[in-house]
Amino acid sequence: MAESTETHCPYCALQCAMTLERDSAGEVRARPAGGGLCRKGWTAPELLAHPDRLTSPLVKGRKATWDEALDHIAERHREITALSGRDSVGVYGSGALTNEKAYQLGKFARLALGTPYIDYNGRFCMSSAAAAANRSLGIDRGLPFPMADLAEADTVLLAGANPAETMPPFMRHLAGPDLIVADPRLTGTAEQALLHLPVRPGTDAALAAGLLHIAIAESRTDRDYIDARTTGFDAVARSVSECWPAWTERVTGIPVADLYRAVELMAGKRTAILTARGSEQHSQGVDTVTAWINLALALGLVGRPSSGYGCLTGQGNGQGGREHGQKADQLPGYRSITDPDARRHVADVWGVSERDLPGPGVSATELLSLCGGDIRSLFVFGSNPAVSAPRSARVAENLAALDLLVVCDFFLSETAELAEVVLPTAQWAEEDGTMTNLEGRLLRRRMLTDPPRGVRTDLRIMADLAERLGGKGSFATDPEEVFEELRRASEGGRADYSGATWDRIDAERLHWPVRARSRERAKSRERMFTDLRFPTDDGRARFVPVSHRETTDVRDAGTQLWLTTGRVLTQYQSGTQTRRVGSLAGEPYLALHPDTAENLGIGEGERVRVRSDRGWFEAPAKLDWTLRRDVVFSPFHYGGAANVNRVVSDALDPLSRMPEFKVSAVRLERATGA
Ligand code: SF4
Repeated sequence: MAESTETHCPYCALQCAMTLERDSAGEVRARPAGGGLCRKGWTAPELLAHPDRLTSPLVKGRKATWDEALDHIAERHREITALSGRDSVGVYGSGALTNEKAYQLGKFARLALGTPYIDYNGRFCMSSAAAAANRSLGIDRGLPFPMADLAEADTVLLAGANPAETMPPFMRHLAGPDLIVADPRLTGTAEQALLHLPVRPGTDAALAAGLLHIAIAESRTDRDYIDARTTGFDAVARSVSECWPAWTERVTGIPVADLYRAVELMAGKRTAILTARGSEQHSQGVDTVTAWINLALALGLVGRPSSGYGCLTGQGNGQGGREHGQKADQLPGYRSITDPDARRHVADVWGVSERDLPGPGVSATELLSLCGGDIRSLFVFGSNPAVSAPRSARVAENLAALDLLVVCDFFLSETAELAEVVLPTAQWAEEDGTMTNLEGRLLRRRMLTDPPRGVRTDLRIMADLAERLGGKGSFATDPEEVFEELRRASEGGRADYSGATWDRIDAERLHWPVRARSRERAKSRERMFTDLRFPTDDGRARFVPVSHRETTDVRDAGTQLWLTTGRVLTQYQSGTQTRRVGSLAGEPYLALHPDTAENLGIGEGERVRVRSDRGWFEAPAKLDWTLRRDVVFSPFHYGGAANVNRVVSDALDPLSRMPEFKVSAVRLERATGA
């Protein structure tokens, strides 16, 4: 007997709708439901019955019962906290977790474990865009308008975004507008652009400032909008006054004529500016995104039809994952953990005293750097930092030096291989929950099938652990019950879900905020900033003066190249899932310009060792005539000696704590005999 359910893809933030069907032989198939699926979505069901699936807890690499594993963790936890205190415990979450799990994980860390040390891999995703949007616009929702609005735009500028490979079905929204792509590489997206701006890695802020300089000089800004809806324009105008076209060309490598052409395509039109990791993953990522927002405000785009600024979030729940309290500095409802009102409200919902809530912890990179030092034990849910974190070889050493590493996952990732205890978890089609996609829309994830025998959900694992560890708080295992608590905890916050229920999510298109206390029936906000007030103190968007800064790596132009990294069509994040799907081909490689290769005596397919001050990785050379001669590229989905994050810098943005993933000074050498 066939069964089916309507749900969404387990991978990226586009969260494509899919119908999952199970036939009488138990085989599960996916098909698109009202949109498209990329190859990853089509093949996602292969993950469910994969032979690598973990179906039993592992303690020191040996199979154990759940009682044995949980008792072992409880005993080790007691020993460690008796010796080193509760502040020696850390929790590392994920932007892949459902809203319910992300919420529960923040509560688990702060009450069950009593530690301030929780952060998550979303810190590596769009934290720079989030901090910039909060600073300039008063709120952070990836796309503050439905993505379908883009089809009506005249122009879309993509800064460091490659949706043709990262989220192919999104490209249908870009079929109509003129496309400008700022990217060091001629990506699949850039190939479809009217104008490709092959910007030097790490100079997007200079590019945005240079475009704003031209817009001001050519009187192409929107003075009425600036006067009515913003503050701080004059200071920003002064800050870009020296960003002459010739200076911009020298810094970014973009010819002056193309700078003028870009302004011509954007000014006075329905234009959307969208950023992604290429612009954001820098030690000056917040200022870089701010420079793009300054340009969008000066052109009068934000809040206008089929126009504006937005960020293309990466991970499946990249948006919801950053709203419910798994960030070091945050409580549910996207509220600051240092805000006394927020602390009172959340403590009340959790049934504890405000004094029971720890203060802020540290960001993901800092948390991982403390492991093996002040942090003695770490609980990891749904993440693989041994591959995905910057300076990953050192991260793996730190994880190996912990007194206790507990990893909850459904495959034995590189991080799980280092763990003393591995707890096998359910997958996306084996439990219910909600996700929030890149446009802030709440979606239901529905269960098709029970988890395999021996596997538990993350919510159940948190509840089981909390019971044994003896901390505070109660932990429901039913996801809808957790969502009901999340609603109350989020009430009054920036990401307010209080008016949303699972029934409403089933029946309506709900974008947060969905406030229960609104006078009318709780309305959701599909489009933000369309009324005259921004959610800032004075109701105006803020221009923030920023300036281009060189990257933290200083390149020796004679011997070094700029390395940049990214995703490819068939792989996803650290590859824990997609590397196991046979039909999703993909191997590590190092792309470089043939002239660069010739200078170094490197041929196509030859193994190259790539070195930075942090370490090295190796990959076969792939010659690419479209690359800048000073840039090499490698995808970040691979572990072991092919892991590009071994050479990436852990220098951090001062505000978002985003590492400098997207630009590293490297030397190349033939790997033979190295
Ligand atoms: Fe899944 Fe993203 Fe592909 Fe859609 S674009 S099918 S959400 S991986």
